[in-house]
Amino acid sequence: MDAETVDLLVIGGGMAGLTAAAQVAAEGGSVVLAEKAERTGGSARFAGFVWTTPTVEEMRRINPDGDPELATALVDGFADGVAWIRSLGVECRPPVPVLGFGRGHQVDTNHYLDSCERLIRDRGQEVLTTTWTRSLVTENGVVKGAECVAPDGSVRRIEAAWTLLATGGFQGDPGLRAEHIHPSAADIGLRANPHSRGDGLTLGSSAGAAFGKKDAGFYGHLMPAGVSLADPARFVDLALYYSEHALLFDTTGERFVDETLGDHLTTMALLERPQARGLLVADARVHREWISASYVEGIPGVDKFQLCHRAGARSAVADSLEDFAAMPEEWGYPGTTIRDRIKEFNAATSKNGATTPGRRLDRQPLDEPPFHVVEAAPAITFTFGGLLIDAGAHTLSANSEGRTPVPGLLAAGADAGGLYRRAYAGGLAPALVFGLAAARTALTESPTALTR
Ligand SMILES: Cc1cc2nc3c(=O)[nH]c(=O)nc-3n(C[C@H](O)[C@H](O)[C@H](O)COP(=O)(O)OP(=O)(O)OC[C@H]3O[C@@H](n4cnc5c(N)ncnc54)[C@H](O)[C@@H]3O)c2cc1C
Repeated sequence: MDAETVDLLVIGGGMAGLTAAAQVAAEGGSVVLAEKAERTGGSARFAGFVWTTPTVEEMRRINPDGDPELATALVDGFADGVAWIRSLGVECRPPVPVLGFGRGHQVDTNHYLDSCERLIRDRGQEVLTTTWTRSLVTENGVVKGAECVAPDGSVRRIEAAWTLLATGGFQGDPGLRAEHIHPSAADIGLRANPHSRGDGLTLGSSAGAAFGKKDAGFYGHLMPAGVSLADPARFVDLALYYSEHALLFDTTGERFVDETLGDHLTTMALLERPQARGLLVADARVHREWISASYVEGIPGVDKFQLCHRAGARSAVADSLEDFAAMPEEWGYPGTTIRDRIKEFNAATSKNGATTPGRRLDRQPLDEPPFHVVEAAPAITFTFGGLLIDAGAHTLSANSEGRTPVPGLLAAGADAGGLYRRAYAGGLAPALVFGLAAARTALTESPTALTR
């Protein structure tokens, strides 16, 4: 290696990239971080809870089709990740339950991201912003850095023993969403930073890294249909987390999913229904107990129905179930069918009978008027499919001998695939744990020791 070669080049300065770069810098290694946006931080600047499942068994239960090696590495590495955050003087509040099956800490992510960036600079290492990566540098199948385009248009070749792809997934690219998620995904709303458009995937694929898992899905939430998400404050304010206690009907007037299993799972299911939109119905009890209530301990509740209504969402308050028959035709839903389905649902659940689809976690009827109705659509936060990695964050290629590491190339955060398949247990935590794993690999391994 010549003197100009850094230990690690990081492409993308969000949760995964800043974590990896700061850890390398903290250990005395050399690192350059290239961030496309004007400011580092990515979607992590909007996030507040670092969490995952407390045990590997729980992870397997909720994510049975995910890669078991990555799932174990995530759960086992979580405590060290939290300790690393705290080591920077950033508060991680006491653990609280998340989504019923998870556990995690409220963290001031902006404090954490800024602390990482400061640490990197204080150790004399580089953070480049408004810097776009044009291509990877490869020699005989070994990735040796990248060519980056500076804000003035000049191209800089940055040589590195290891290169980490951490551009945050491909949710910002409608074409890639349609290709890898579902044709209807081209048109869904984006509730994330606008810069994560699959650059890591394109760069990694060019070096032979494999994509997976097929049909992995995405993490997102139901949002009011047709309402602009240009203002990031809406990502959380308008998210219809309460769908777990409501009923969701598609444009044929039928329920199609057990809503109680999680708004993020319902969001994926709605994407596959006709026109990818649905009518979310709550009664007065759900409004009182869930719509205006806190979704996760520590975050104050707001009346999301009112916020959606004020934002111009298609919404209404019905004084009785009979009002559903008068649903405006232009909404495109069979109001009488929905009225009948709600009555059937209430008759079944009040006698503790079966419903189709099932209703595992909240089996209370929705029979207290008035009824709050809002039209919902899926919005995407980040993608589950990505570059396949192992527990050391090495990207993997597919060849005749099975999957082997692509020498010199790492991936972490939402650029990495394999961990989740149609299931979710935290986004910050995998970026943290595999960001730290990437740093460890860069500090302890020689890329040329790995052969194809
Ligand atoms: C509103 C909201 C709330 C959330 N809440 C939570 C939460 O409470 N808990 C949780 O676990 N997760 C949460 N998440 C998800 C979490 O933010 C992500 O899972 C996490 O940030 C992923 O880390 P990452 O490093 O992969 O991507 P990011 O943090 O998004 O970082 C990717 C970075 O790469 C940059 N980039 C893109 N392309 C390039 C390129 N070509 N070259 C250089 N840089 C590039 C981007 O600008 C960005 O800075 C939330 C997300 C959102 C949007």
